[in-house]
Amino acid sequence: MTKRARKSDENEGQGGIGATKHGDRTLGMNARICRRDFLNSMLLASGSVLLKPLTPLQFLGQLPSGQQPSWGGYTGVGDYAGANGNTQKVMLAAHAVRDGAFDSPSASAADTGEVFDLVVVGGGISGLASALYFKDQAQPKQTCLVLENHPIFGGQARRNEFIVDGQRLMAPQGSNWFWVPNSTKLVGEFYARVGVDPGEFKYQVWGGPPPAMPLSRTSYHFARNLPSPPNFGFYFGGKFGQRPGKWLVDPWRHLDRLPLSPELRADFARYLQAVIDFHRGAGGETGEAELRRLDTVTAEDVLAERHGISREFIRLFVAPHSAAAIGAGPDAITGCRYELYGSGDNITRHSFPGGNTGFTRHVVKTLLPDAIPGPSTLEAVCRNPVNFGALDRPASQVRIRLGSTAVRVEHEGEPGKSSFVRITYTRDGKVYRLKARTVVMAGGGWITKHVVRDLPPTHREAYDQFHYSATVVANVAMRNWRFLHKLGLSGGRWFDGFGFWTEVRTIARFGSDSPTIGPDSPTVLSLIVPFHYPGLPLAEQCSRGRAELMSTSFRDFERKIREQFTDMFSMSEFDARRDIAGIILNRWGHHFVVPQPGFVYGRDGKPAPPDVLRKAPFGRIAFANTDLSADSGHDRAIIEGHRAVTQLLALL
Ligand SMILES: Cc1cc2nc3c(=O)[nH]c(=O)nc-3n(C[C@H](O)[C@H](O)[C@H](O)COP(=O)(O)OP(=O)(O)OC[C@H]3O[C@@H](n4cnc5c(N)ncnc54)[C@H](O)[C@@H]3O)c2cc1C
Repeated sequence: MTKRARKSDENEGQGGIGATKHGDRTLGMNARICRRDFLNSMLLASGSVLLKPLTPLQFLGQLPSGQQPSWGGYTGVGDYAGANGNTQKVMLAAHAVRDGAFDSPSASAADTGEVFDLVVVGGGISGLASALYFKDQAQPKQTCLVLENHPIFGGQARRNEFIVDGQRLMAPQGSNWFWVPNSTKLVGEFYARVGVDPGEFKYQVWGGPPPAMPLSRTSYHFARNLPSPPNFGFYFGGKFGQRPGKWLVDPWRHLDRLPLSPELRADFARYLQAVIDFHRGAGGETGEAELRRLDTVTAEDVLAERHGISREFIRLFVAPHSAAAIGAGPDAITGCRYELYGSGDNITRHSFPGGNTGFTRHVVKTLLPDAIPGPSTLEAVCRNPVNFGALDRPASQVRIRLGSTAVRVEHEGEPGKSSFVRITYTRDGKVYRLKARTVVMAGGGWITKHVVRDLPPTHREAYDQFHYSATVVANVAMRNWRFLHKLGLSGGRWFDGFGFWTEVRTIARFGSDSPTIGPDSPTVLSLIVPFHYPGLPLAEQCSRGRAELMSTSFRDFERKIREQFTDMFSMSEFDARRDIAGIILNRWGHHFVVPQPGFVYGRDGKPAPPDVLRKAPFGRIAFANTDLSADSGHDRAIIEGHRAVTQLLALL
């Protein structure tokens, strides 16, 4: 037994942050499965540091070397190992920009001598789509470089991979599902352009004991879309007077059994009815005048007024879904983003095995065919490893430079008259500079406003009204999910503790080792955990959430996860030591821009903040990223990329 393991075992049953009601041993905190490399690095860290609460500053690299606690934790296998969420290295580089480390042009920046027709800052869906729209419309000799700060392209659309008992498992780090038909023709055409035919998506079929359970294709279908199928449940623990806690299977058909006050039970029933009515088409389309009015109030006001449901219910049930999908609960978002989550809509939901990572891989394959070996099929693009050497070759029209943070972007001379934009970036601790005729800033407003040095006050003020929430996505690899199946469940929702819901996904077959799935199959259960604090001012909700996200160690998150599962499933023979094969945390410091009232139509006679940035390029710089929409989906990332490139092509 290692020194570290002995120390934790001594913590069984004691108080303090190093101990829990279940004890480290019961929770499997020292299990050496799927986490070996991470645990070895943890052994180097001092136990006393690990047991103390840590401030964000400590996590930002302020501790003496050798005493830095591991922040990123285990990162998985495959192309995305070392690239889980916002990595600590990327965060430190970005915060150095914010904190003024590059406020003066660096005299020592090495000039690469390169001049590109377009430089795209940010290799997420929006930046990659920009590069593709450029390639499709520019002259063959015109060139493009994408600068991306993470070790792999994709942004919020990246995936985690595990090997569990010989099976390769994938799960989205962030962006998860897409839908057909997409409401925008441009997006449907984009799918086709990159070789994705949703009609080819076939999913694993039931391979467990009869009867077959319907399974979700995404990580939040059954939790959000009502009424969920009978194999979805609600868990109520100590907060609701349930000791031991209990599961209510098929709760939407048994609302009278919810261990809640009669008022809250009635709210559940009213909400369900509202969802059903809404998806039957009751209420019809909302006109622009009404949308403008709704943009002056919060979504919580609208929900309460229209459906007669209490704010207590909204904050208990609706807010976590809203925070996961829009960045904050209805208390903080504009009334025109008010939503009833339901399933009666006419769309088909799809998810690549690693979520919308699939699109980013297909875009890269389309831009640079050698970057992912093999044919352009769903299977090859999903499963074959990225050939990183092919991403940044001088002969390519479009190049992708990874691990590169743009720290200064500025026109040479007056923006309206200049012919070039100068870009300074850091890579592996060195500073470089190059030139571009045009630039798309696709990295997100939280950093763009610091990087673009000559940004006019109008644009800066607009970006100052963008508030970003924080979220952690924990992917928990399980050896099997018998513990759920024994309860008659494939997923469930809870209202207390860490996380809010989880559900077993059936995986698109082109990316799964097995064509079938059943309770004996290994699977990845995702916990999407937004940090939101209903009732507080939005800016405070966002900064508090980021502080919590940054200052919680991997080990403390891991303990919360193991404890939550043990609380909920030990009744059905779940054993965290045996059943959890690995955990990857994906920390998103700037998950979604939260559209507060006024974000969509503007306030006090001023234009909406995103419109200031979208309207026209600033000199030779255009702005993309999904945050320019009040509805930050992958589709908006594509649309904003298209618009930004179209604006710039006229300048080339
Ligand atoms: C947890 C989560 C779940 C989601 N689920 C869904 C879903 O199910 N369906 C859906 O449609 N959408 C979903 N989304 C939203 C969707 O993923 C995003 O809208 C989309 O991926 C954003 O793409 P983007 O390119 O605009 O931004 P990003 O993905 O943020 O990409 C920007 C990239 O630029 C990099 N960058 C920033 N600044 C710099 C710099 N100075 N230099 C170099 N690089 C820089 C960033 O690190 C990042 O990699 C989800 C998002 C999250 C976080």
